Amino acid sequence: MRNLFLALGLAALAACSSSTGSETLEPAQEPAPAQTAAFLGNANCPVSGNAVKQDVFVEADGQKAYFCCGDCKAKHVDDPKAALAAAYPEAKPLGNDTCPVSGEAADGSKTVSWQGHEIAVCCGNCVGEFSNDAAAYAAKAAGAN
Ligand SMILES: [Zn+2]
Ligand SMILES: [Zn+2]
Repeated sequence: MRNLFLALGLAALAACSSSTGSETLEPAQEPAPAQTAAFLGNANCPVSGNAVKQDVFVEADGQKAYFCCGDCKAKHVDDPKAALAAAYPEAKPLGNDTCPVSGEAADGSKTVSWQGHEIAVCCGNCVGEFSNDAAAYAAKAAGAN
């Protein structure tokens, strides 16, 4: 009696697995990318070399140089342009291929330099407009990558 049940059970299992074998697998759902705003400032304090705090900075020409603490900021507060030069010794291409001002294609032949980033824009008009709201345009250019 017990063996019969076992045999029936195995037959049912076999039938079950053959009927589900042809099911197609759903593609795994991609999780939505996290919308974290990129920090486009200097990572290390130009005075101490330590990691900066995003709420400790001096500002000039619409650009911010960040420091690790108030003491380091105090050394540069009278000359924010020198702080910018120290924080951003060179500008590296951001790599955007869309002008953040106009939304048109930008091939990299016209760029603006902002906080150590060379940001591609489409034309001279957009170079001028960029400076009117530089941080927002830079964030847009970085986000479009
Ligand atoms: Zn410091
Ligand atoms: Zn343009």
